[in-house]
Amino acid sequence: MITPVMPVYARANIEVDHGEGVYLYDAAGHKYLDFAAGIAVNVVGHGHPHLVKTMQAQAAKLWHTSNLYRIPEGERLAERLRENTFADTMFFTNSGAEAWECAVKVARAYQGAVGHPEKFRIITCSNAFHGRTLAGIASTDQEKLRKGFEPLPDWFKVVPFNNLAALEAAIDPSVGAIKFEPIQGEGGVTAATQEFMRGARALCDKHDLLLILDEIQCGVGRTGKFFAYEHYGIEPDVMCIAKGIGGGFPMGACLATERAAKGMTIGTHGSTYGGNPMAMAIGNAVLDVVLEPGFMEHVTAMGQRLEQSLLQMIPNHEDIFVNEPVRGMGLMRGIKAKVPSRDFVNHARASGIMAVAAAGDVVRLLPPLIIEEKHIAEAMDKLSAAARSYPVAKAA
Ligand SMILES: *Cc1c(COP(=O)(O)O)cnc(C)c1O
Repeated sequence: MITPVMPVYARANIEVDHGEGVYLYDAAGHKYLDFAAGIAVNVVGHGHPHLVKTMQAQAAKLWHTSNLYRIPEGERLAERLRENTFADTMFFTNSGAEAWECAVKVARAYQGAVGHPEKFRIITCSNAFHGRTLAGIASTDQEKLRKGFEPLPDWFKVVPFNNLAALEAAIDPSVGAIKFEPIQGEGGVTAATQEFMRGARALCDKHDLLLILDEIQCGVGRTGKFFAYEHYGIEPDVMCIAKGIGGGFPMGACLATERAAKGMTIGTHGSTYGGNPMAMAIGNAVLDVVLEPGFMEHVTAMGQRLEQSLLQMIPNHEDIFVNEPVRGMGLMRGIKAKVPSRDFVNHARASGIMAVAAAGDVVRLLPPLIIEEKHIAEAMDKLSAAARSYPVAKAA
């Protein structure tokens, strides 16, 4: 008989009961070092006092009003994001996939507004992950996401990630935007090269295309900058964010310049819940922590420490990990395994650490951004223990 919760996830058979800082505790009393952070969501860890207090106060004050009225906390959050990014304006959503859907509409509306409705397609990249809506799965070449849901709309052209020549060659009169993740998460923790990012920006300028970045996973401090594009010395026209901005409360946003949002006029888009008072209060509370002076420096320092520690650990487990440079930036890291990464991650849980599998047998490490050196040392001990006890015969 089908389970009452639709069986679309291969869930680990543990009941997470509560969290505290960088640790999770299951109902059976086991403690886990959380280097998954709800897939890059719990940026300030679990049960952060400022977030808990904010949530409790807002819950007592007001939950929801719809977007029929002004929402002061949302106006404040938008103003703060505007001050700290390239953006002039934004639309709040409940999830990352909805932020991506909004970005597709922004691109359509922009090209329509400048008299080029025929430029409806968006160039995306191989191994991309932009969420599970139909536009989300249509915009990637990942078979496992698309399979069984075709036909999908022919609105996207997929080019190999980090191949600037292929990107340029794919621009035709039907193309109105280029979109990718500065650091692919799901796809294997692969960062865009400087050449690709700057090249994409230049091509967008040349052909009047919008550069849309998906920072749903790599944004909100994860790489040691507020947003990953800051590492590249360019600015996008549109950017999708989610995950970290809510710190665990479901929310996202599609940010845009005034020019890019030209077509988004009254009545063109909406959401019942998007930007509701609870989400906006929490978003502001996350920014209170993340924008505190010194926070990004902390992430950068911990990211370097994590990278160095992994570089030391990997050669000790040659049968488990590929000896290659650590992937990613800051506290968004990946190490390539010689065994199925999903199996390794499941196995590592028994050693008391949560991580996330990514495509290409990459083990993703996405700790809360508040981790300290001692947690990194603990992570290395636990990953090493998991590597030592991994039944290698199973992998062959
Ligand atoms: C998680 C993710 C999404 C989808 O976000 P949801 O909130 O699950 O809809 C889109 N893009 C990237 C890069 C992501 O990591």
